[in-house]
Parts: sequence; C-alpha cells; structure tokens
Amino acid sequence: RIAPLPGSIQAVPEISFEFFPPKTEALEAQLWACIRRLEPLAPQFVSVTYGAGGSTQERTHATVLRLVRETSLIPAAHLTCVGATRGAVDDVARRYWDAGVCHIVALRGDVPGGAPYQAHPDGYAFASDLVAGLKRVADFDISVAAYPETHPQAASPAADLDNLKRKLDAGANRAITQVFFDTSHYLDFLDRALAAGITAPIIPGIMPVSNFAQAKRIGEMGGTSVPAWMAEMFDGLDDDAETRKMVAAAVAAEQVRILQANGIDEFHFYTLNRADLTYAIARILGVKGK
Ligand code: FAD
Repeated sequence: RIAPLPGSIQAVPEISFEFFPPKTEALEAQLWACIRRLEPLAPQFVSVTYGAGGSTQERTHATVLRLVRETSLIPAAHLTCVGATRGAVDDVARRYWDAGVCHIVALRGDVPGGAPYQAHPDGYAFASDLVAGLKRVADFDISVAAYPETHPQAASPAADLDNLKRKLDAGANRAITQVFFDTSHYLDFLDRALAAGITAPIIPGIMPVSNFAQAKRIGEMGGTSVPAWMAEMFDGLDDDAETRKMVAAAVAAEQVRILQANGIDEFHFYTLNRADLTYAIARILGVKGK
C-alpha cells in the first residue's frame, strides 16, 4: 500500500528528537547547530541521553538546562538506575524537577563493558521500579523504552511485554521504541501490545543510518535485526558518502511513510546530533513547524 502524500488526507504527525550530550567543544558546537536547525520544526519534546551508570550525568544535566534556558523546546532528561543507589537517582530527579524539567525518560541502563546485569543492592532493580520511584519524587511526565524485537535479556517476548505493561502501570505515560529497520516488527509489536491491554502511545524510534557498518553495530548492541536488503543497498558505497546519505534518506522516508499509512502519527528521531537527514524526513512527513 502506498501512503497518500502528506498533507493530502493525513494529519501532520507529532515528532520528537533525541540528542546525546557532547564530549568536546567541537561536538558541542555541532549539537547546538543541530538543535537550532531542528527547533523551528516545533517538536513535542527533545530528549538527552544519559551515559551508562551516570557517566554523562553532568553533561546531560548541562545540556538539558541549556535547552531550558536558551530554547523554546521542552526537554526530556534520560535517567538510568544501573549502578546507583535509590537516593542518588532521586537526587538527580529532584534537581531536574527544581530546574523546571518535568519529563524523564526512565531506563534501567546496562553495565559498562557488557558484563551481565546486576542491580545495585540499594538501587532500583528495573526500570519499572525507577518509574515508581520517580513518581514518589514528583509528578513527572515519564517515557520508557519498548523493544519491538524483544529486549535481548528478556525471558521471552511475552515476559518483555509484561515488563512494558508494568512500567506503564507504575506511572509511565508513553513508550519509545528501540530502533528497528523492518517496519513489520514494529507493527506486529503494536498488535501484540494492544492484545495485552496496552493502550498508551508506543512511539516508533526512527534512526536514519547512513552506512551499513553503523546499522550493524546498532543492531548488535540493541537486539535490532538488520535486513539483507539494507546490506545490499549500501554494498560498495563505502567511499561514496554522498550516495550513502541519499540512500539513508530514502530508506528512512519509506519507513515513516509506511508507518504513516498505517495510522502512526507520532515519531521519535534518533538524530545522532546531526540535523540534515532528520530535517528532510520530517519534511517528507509533512512537518513544517513554525
Ligand atoms: P527494563 O525495562 O528494566 O528491562 C530490562 C530487562 O529486564 C528486559 O529484558 C526485561 O524484560 C527484564 N525485566 C524487567 N523486569 C524484570 C523482572 N522483574 N524480573 C526479570 N526480568 C525483568 N541506555 C543508557 O544507558 N542511556 C540512555 O540514555 C538510554 N536511552 C534509551 C532510550 C530508548 C528509547 C531505548 C529503547 C533504550 C535506551 N537505553 C539507554 C538503553 C537501555 O538502557 C537498555 O536497553 C537496557 O538494557 C534496558 O533498559 P530498560 O529501561 O528497557 O530496562
């Protein structure tokens, strides 16, 4: 089925963006150029990631506060509970609330270096516990993670779906998905979630990837399968960045238009702190902003 042209019969979707906190001054300049380019698209919110075990705590905080001070955007701060006491996590959350940051993306996180997960003895064990803890700190707007292809450490797809339901029942308002490249995984997941009684929004996480090695790396990290057609499309283009970018835009544009044709009206973009592809795809979706 071909999607009608945006603007013809479909409503303009809501969009949101993810950024990561920069490590150097040069990367900071790149991030802020990206933010300024995307800001006029008037996203619902923009989120800022948090390094494993709080390794980017201060940089995440600084980026989120600068968003509050210097932009019209609504920031959502990612927060993980791995390796931290409940008290330390609550303190970070309280600092955000006091600074006017009311949206948290609540995550368990992973042990750095790929070691098996172990909860901190005085910590929140899973993201569902973190959500409940955050709600005790303040009435945060909370987003959580969802996995169309099942989280790699889940006992089963059904157990992982139960976990998503627990996070929403604990007070989360919506889920944002892990990256996926095959839209049927996401659409099947929505059907399964609905059958399990989940009615909160499950926003697809869209990552425009401009090379196959990057797609593979992401796939290996987060349990995302990489379709053979993607390998084919990027095959032989290693030294041709310009064509790779055009291919990436076409792949992501097709993905969002299939989702839009299936009634999806909210999209979350993993920008990787670069505006160009995300900006183009937002335009394809009919988003013009201010
Ligand atoms: P949980 O929801 O706690 O689930 C983790 C695993 O435990 C799942 O397999 C689940 O099925 C299982 N489980 C849950 N409860 C139980 C239980 N009671 N008993 C047994 N098993 C259980 N990582 C970062 O470090 N920083 C970030 O900023 C970040 N942002 C992200 C944003 C999004 C949208 C997504 C999708 C992921 C992000 N991650 C981030 C990665 C995330 O931290 C990892 O995927 C992590 O492995 C799981 O986090 P979670 O919040 O999904 O965990």
